[in-house]
Amino acid sequence: MSWVFRGLGIESRNVNNQERASWLVVGLDNGGTANSATVLDGSRRFLVDHLVESPSRVREGPEVAIAALVEALDRVLDLTGMKRESVRAIGLGSPGPASADGVISSRGATNFSEEGWRRFEFRAVLERRLGVPVLYNNDGNAAALYAHHSYFGSEAELRSSISAIVGTGLGGGVVEAGRVIRGAAGMAGELGHVHIPMEGLLADAQPVPVCNCGFAGDVESIASLTGIERNLLPYWLKRFPEHELARVGSIGQAARLVRSYGDLEDPLALEIFNQQAMALGRLFTIASNFLDPDAFFVGGGLVEASAKFREWFLALVRQYTSLREEQTEIVSFAVIPDLDMAGARGAALAALQWLHEP
Ligand SMILES: [Zn+2]
Repeated sequence: MSWVFRGLGIESRNVNNQERASWLVVGLDNGGTANSATVLDGSRRFLVDHLVESPSRVREGPEVAIAALVEALDRVLDLTGMKRESVRAIGLGSPGPASADGVISSRGATNFSEEGWRRFEFRAVLERRLGVPVLYNNDGNAAALYAHHSYFGSEAELRSSISAIVGTGLGGGVVEAGRVIRGAAGMAGELGHVHIPMEGLLADAQPVPVCNCGFAGDVESIASLTGIERNLLPYWLKRFPEHELARVGSIGQAARLVRSYGDLEDPLALEIFNQQAMALGRLFTIASNFLDPDAFFVGGGLVEASAKFREWFLALVRQYTSLREEQTEIVSFAVIPDLDMAGARGAALAALQWLHEP
């Protein structure tokens, strides 16, 4: 049932094995519809090997959502036969924007539109409710941390990586020496809103894409489901007016179907994914000049398509990333594994790292 997580290259200090094994941290990934939960023990084992989900009820406001998180915690502990008293810390992840200390933006957010969420101290309120330290990370950062540790294993603390996750938006994170770079205001790793050159990326007469954040020509305006819906698909449907997707009810529905056409090597879908791969390659080119990481990870729905499509897409991203020869020799490109569990697992890893800090 349980499996050893070989990744976490952290040794706790001054505790014997028995004591360490009795520690637990819980990872809670708070999503728009579901909470996902996992349990990690002090000897680096995840005690659940599958997705454990329950309703997040975030749209009913913070009070209901906090109760739902407590329920998610108790449920995953029940599943593993563990007690709340053994839990030493909790990792909480949610979509942003939120501060480094888990305070939801004063302007609200997609998942947190209810009035009560504005400036809600998500982390602190959950901590007070549970009486256990709660560590906050945005979900992209948490998934990036999991990707890093699962890829590098015992070498995780010697390595750096950049993760880009293509979803509704473009999330991800930056990991240096095995730790997430959070930034002064908690806004580091907002890769989606990095500006990239549009020259040679946009086709003839294709308008400069605009992002939800207000920027024109940033990564998310191309490499996200929202980018497909607002920018890429409307343009490419004009170039392929006979395409079946032109007859789908709404542009939003059509955008969600583009991925399945990618698997079929449909020419319109391939144009769209080519532009997304180029956007990610240009982002990684920028990143290679300020972080020079050991690895670039790509995640999201589109890399969970068929293996053939995934390999085609990853090879394109690599092709569009301009690296120096010395970098090319050592850098890796890989897909983020277990993406549905990555948020909860990464949140748990962050909490365990915090426990081990001197
Ligand atoms: Zn943006």
